[in-house]
Amino acid sequence: MTNLKTIAITGGKGGVGKSTIAILLANKLRAEGKRVVLADCDIECPNDYLLLGQKLTKSIDKVKAQFPKLIKEKCRTRLPDGQECGLCVDKCRSKAIFQAPGQYPIFLAELCSGCGLCWHLCPYQAIEVEKKTIGEVFQNKIADNFYLVTGRSVGVVEESGPIVSQTKRISQELAQKIGADYLLVDTAVGLHCGVIRALIGVDLAYAVTEPTPLGAHDLKLILELLSLLKVKPKIILNQADLGVKEPVAKIAQNQKVSIEHELPYSKELARAYSQGELAKVNIF
Ligand code: SF4
Ligand code: SF4
Repeated sequence: MTNLKTIAITGGKGGVGKSTIAILLANKLRAEGKRVVLADCDIECPNDYLLLGQKLTKSIDKVKAQFPKLIKEKCRTRLPDGQECGLCVDKCRSKAIFQAPGQYPIFLAELCSGCGLCWHLCPYQAIEVEKKTIGEVFQNKIADNFYLVTGRSVGVVEESGPIVSQTKRISQELAQKIGADYLLVDTAVGLHCGVIRALIGVDLAYAVTEPTPLGAHDLKLILELLSLLKVKPKIILNQADLGVKEPVAKIAQNQKVSIEHELPYSKELARAYSQGELAKVNIF
C-alpha cells in the first residue's frame, strides 16, 4: 500500500497544452521509478489517449443518468376547461421542455439536467423516469507502471459532473489496486461543474498557462477557484519563450503562487505530439 498523491493538471484557458503537460508529468514520475495512473477527465474531448498512440475500444464502465419520458396517454395537454396544462414546461429551470400550442411537451435531452422536478410535479403521473447512458469509461495500459483511464461523454450532455466523478472513482480504485504512487487528473478547461468535480479533494493542482494577457486573465480565474476549493496551486508556464511573461508573473506574485516550471517551445515535443508519441518524451 503506497501513499497515493493526487495531482490535478488544469487551466482556465484551452489550447495551452494542459494534456501535454499531464503526460509529460507522468513521464517524469515514471522515469523516477514511480507508478502512475492518469485520469483524463476532459470528458467532452478527451485526447490523452490519442497523444499516447492508444485507441478507446471496449468501455469498462458506463455512466447512466435519469431522464424524463412522456406517457402521452396520461398527459393532459388540454384540460377539460379548455386550458393547457404545461406545468412541467413552466417549472423546468433548464428550459429543457418545449411545448407548441395544443401539442404534447417535448423533452430536450441536451438541456436536461435530470433534476427530476418535472416527474415530481406532474399531477397526472404522465412523466416516467428513463435511464440513459451519458458516458463511458475506458482503461489503457501504457506501460508496466503507467495506466490511463479515460472518461468520455456519449453525445452532448448538460451535466458532465457524474461522468467526471465516475472516471475519478475508477481511477482511484485502479491506483489502489496497482499500488500507484501518483494519480494525475487531467481536467477540462474552465470553471464549470465538471472541472470542480475533478479538482475536489486533490492534494495539489498545476494551473497550466501561456505567456499572454489572455493566459494571465484565465490563470487568475482558475487560481481563485483553487483557493475556494482549498487546493494548493502551482503554475506551469508553457511555451514560456514565445510571449510576454510579465502578465502571468504579476498574477502569480499577487496570488502568492510560485511558477514551478517554465517550459520553452520544443520541436521534439511538437513532433511527438503530432505522432502520438508523447509517452517517449521527458523534458521536465
Ligand atoms: S405536467 Fe404532466 S400533464 Fe401537464 S403537460 Fe407536463 S406531462 Fe403533461
Ligand atoms: S428533469 Fe429537470 S431539467 Fe430535465 S426536463 Fe425535467 S425539470 Fe427539466
